[in-house]
Amino acid sequence: MGKLINSLGRLLAERVDILIMPRMGSSKKFKVRVLTLVLVFVLWLIITLCGFLFFIRAYDYNITKADNNLMRVKMKLIADELERGRKYLDLTRTTDTQMRQMLGMPGGKFINLPKGWEEAKAKEDARFSEAMSKDLKDLDTEEFEQYIDSIEDSAKTRLASFQEIAWYFANRREGLNSIPSIRPSTARISSGFGYRLDPFGHRTTKRHNGIDFAGKPDSPIVVTADGVVRHAGWVPSYGQAILVDHGLGYSTLYAHTTQIRVKAGDVVKRGDRIATMGSSGRSTGTHLHYEVWKDGQAVNPRDYFK
Ligand SMILES: [Zn+2]
Repeated sequence: MGKLINSLGRLLAERVDILIMPRMGSSKKFKVRVLTLVLVFVLWLIITLCGFLFFIRAYDYNITKADNNLMRVKMKLIADELERGRKYLDLTRTTDTQMRQMLGMPGGKFINLPKGWEEAKAKEDARFSEAMSKDLKDLDTEEFEQYIDSIEDSAKTRLASFQEIAWYFANRREGLNSIPSIRPSTARISSGFGYRLDPFGHRTTKRHNGIDFAGKPDSPIVVTADGVVRHAGWVPSYGQAILVDHGLGYSTLYAHTTQIRVKAGDVVKRGDRIATMGSSGRSTGTHLHYEVWKDGQAVNPRDYFK
């Protein structure tokens, strides 16, 4: 073993001649140690390897960059596609209004939405137009999702509206079932329509747009006339609420409910169970707040059942 190392040491220490012979002129002769040659070779190997690694990384980086560019192009395509879809949705809104006018549906607008609805809608619209003021490419994932959601919502609203128009068209000749004429709940009436009296017997300024039924939690709520569900879900202060259009200028509202069984666009028949009594929204106890609207005015629901 020692012998081998000795001879290797001798070999490395040995000098070899390197001859450089140009075609013209005299040749040059260098004396180089084998050790130097080995070192040069190792150095060359290291440089080559480093170069190779560097190349691989640069290659990777460029591939990623190309991928990103491709993604951006794809996103742009999707965004354009969505934008086109949204424009068509806007067009259907015009068609909607025209159909309503042709059918003589009151004012081209079936009902006046209660106050909370308008506020919720305005908030939604503001959020939407804020998202829309940005270039679609610049939307982050969350905003993009919101954007898609708003398109979906708007499509659902439109569909519900068309179903409502179709329903109105099919039913307007036999308007009898469209007029609210039963109790929405069998529970006792705990608060009437109009101005309430304060504890001193004075009329308060706040008008009560409906009547209240106070019953046991989860007791059934039924729809009081045939119609189409315009809205089913959360509304500020009304809680989980259902708004039903009945045609002929009538609509009814059921607030503070739980366990809603219908969704916007559903056709409902008088007496159908649509939810149960709860205490959602601004409510102090389990009760149903029930409103009847006629031609955009809240009327006394007490006049619409025996
Ligand atoms: Zn009430």
